Amino acid sequence: MRIKKDKNKLLVPDEITIPYIEGDGAGVEITPVTRRIVDKSVAKAYGGKRSIEWIEALAGEKAFKCTGNYLPDETIDIFREYYIGIKGPLTTPVGEGIRSLNVALRQILDLYVCLRPVRWFKGVASPLREPQKVNMVIFRENTEDIYAGIEWQQGTPEAEKFLQFLSSEMGVSKIRFPETSSFGGKPVSREGSERLVASAIEYALANRLPSLTLVHKGNIMKFTEGSFKRWGYALAEREFGDRTFTMLQYEKIRKEKGDGEASRALSEARSEGKLIIKDVIADAFLQNTLLTPENYSVIATLNLNGDYISDQLAAMVGGIGIAPGANINYSSGHAIFEATHGTAPDIAGKNIANPSSLLLSSVMMLEYIGWNEAANLITSAMEQAFVRGEATGDLARFMPDGKSLGTVQFGDTIMNLIDVM
Ligand code: NAD
Repeated sequence: MRIKKDKNKLLVPDEITIPYIEGDGAGVEITPVTRRIVDKSVAKAYGGKRSIEWIEALAGEKAFKCTGNYLPDETIDIFREYYIGIKGPLTTPVGEGIRSLNVALRQILDLYVCLRPVRWFKGVASPLREPQKVNMVIFRENTEDIYAGIEWQQGTPEAEKFLQFLSSEMGVSKIRFPETSSFGGKPVSREGSERLVASAIEYALANRLPSLTLVHKGNIMKFTEGSFKRWGYALAEREFGDRTFTMLQYEKIRKEKGDGEASRALSEARSEGKLIIKDVIADAFLQNTLLTPENYSVIATLNLNGDYISDQLAAMVGGIGIAPGANINYSSGHAIFEATHGTAPDIAGKNIANPSSLLLSSVMMLEYIGWNEAANLITSAMEQAFVRGEATGDLARFMPDGKSLGTVQFGDTIMNLIDVM
């Protein structure tokens, strides 16, 4: 049965149909293992009262072989109709007029939040001394910024036209090497920023998290990144004023009444359970997350910053083989939960790929539809496996007593652990 939507709420049936894209390369191995584990956890958590019927949506190389199209319209229609789904990694077709299938899916369904929770699992090797202090959720804007695909290659008539426009109509004279420049555009809108920040604030409040940090480069890009920060703060004060305390308010009190009053107001807001909204410049943030990760909880940021931040934070807790992610439109309800790594062509077909990224993304999906009991079973089983040093080779090789398991064997281990819970 399908999810239905009633006003702003998704109505989730007990027997739910969920589409999946198997994915290319290692996707062929990690997707079936993930589906089996999800089925097992749902059966165990609800004793048959709830279940998932999976339907395959074609995309990538498999779709091209079957239909001659890398991203058939039918696949988009299925995700539109069923609201949620999971997706294995897809090869980016070269020279097919598609920049990336992932980007196409995000744009067509307007999945404006790229959600990346980052936590450490005991037993997994980390470059940090105290990785247990890392517990963050990144809200990366997914539809705008320098990633919007507005760029012109040096030497083309378009780049020449753009240069002419800049110099003759906009009076721009500070392009260092105009004749040999390529150009790119960076759209950042108030609507785009506000819907991203609003989703992050709602998530933080719903999960009783302590702070939300706006990460930006507004010191340099004042009208794009700087506006993102200003719009974010303004939205927090306007729409969530009774449940948040912003560092702008803190600064105002400090200027008017001094440091002591400002600190008191901040402590009071914390003790009342208000969400503290702060901001930080992106480069300082990357440094701070290594030195004092405990100071950060929910992160809201633009597209390019979010890309770098996601990979650094993932590396801090074990790498992209274990980092989950989802692309979500909180207004329409549409969401695709995906492996964050690529197709791993170097290891595909060898039964060694780590299914943890897609598996943890499926945990996010179960939480998204409110099936938290099933989600918790998978997380607990993974915690137990990692503590025992049981993992696929990419993780096991860095564990002191690591036992390297194949993709299928790791899946069986997780299912056995769920069985005895
Ligand atoms: P990749 O993520 O596929 O591989 C990078 C490295 O990480 C490789 O050494 C690989 O073996 C390892 N790795 C990746 N996933 C792993 C897993 N589950 N278990 C163990 N090791 C894993 O990146 P790439 O090689 O740059 O890209 C390969 C293809 O994937 C390209 O076509 C690229 O466009 C595509 N891609 C797709 C997505 C996506 O679908 N979300 C993301 C990134 C890249």
